Amino acid sequence: MIKIGITGGIGSGKSTVAKLLNVLNYPVYSSDSRARVLLKENKQIHEAIREAFGDCVFDVSGNPSRALLADLVFNDENLLNKLNTIIHPAVRNDFNEWIKTQNSTLVFKEAAIIFEHGLEKELDAVWVVDAPVQLRVDRVIKRSGLTAQQVHERMNNQLDAELLRQKANLIINNDDEHALIPQVINAVNSIL
Ligand code: ATP
Repeated sequence: MIKIGITGGIGSGKSTVAKLLNVLNYPVYSSDSRARVLLKENKQIHEAIREAFGDCVFDVSGNPSRALLADLVFNDENLLNKLNTIIHPAVRNDFNEWIKTQNSTLVFKEAAIIFEHGLEKELDAVWVVDAPVQLRVDRVIKRSGLTAQQVHERMNNQLDAELLRQKANLIINNDDEHALIPQVINAVNSIL
């Protein structure tokens, strides 16, 4: 089985590429959506979060609140690291379990964070989705209602786009000049 990581900065188009791969019938593991499910359902994660952050980050239904956690860790690197040491290993294990249930020769893992934690070692290649900064900002504003400043703050907490491009095994240019679908199809064909 060939495992390909799909990564890129905020608003680059990772999820869009993941959706295209899904349409092409390839299994795609979405780290972000699985992290949300695990945060909601995994009792071990709940206990670890209670121990690390206390009851104040739990909502009335007894689940950890993503909004409260996000507020708490935003701009606090220590707390963010603390949360990541709970969530990231759980997602990593979950991905490894998911792989066992797949019978495709080619599978994908979409994740905002791959190189930051050396996860490329567990993958056969990593594709980086990229687009010009202003386009990414505009797309995220349109999608989420965040301000330009908030998008830039999130970008500043991520790996620099140029570094990502250097580390990539393949770059998908999701700008207004290169058509996305042929790039994705060619990328798949290049490894099959
Ligand atoms: P995030 O890291 O914030 O989750 P992402 O890298 O997964 O972002 P997407 O969610 O795929 O990025 O794309 C961001 C927004 O831009 C979405 O609303 C998406 O529909 C839009 N978008 C992505 N690619 C294109 C494109 N080629 N043309 C027009 N809109 C696009």
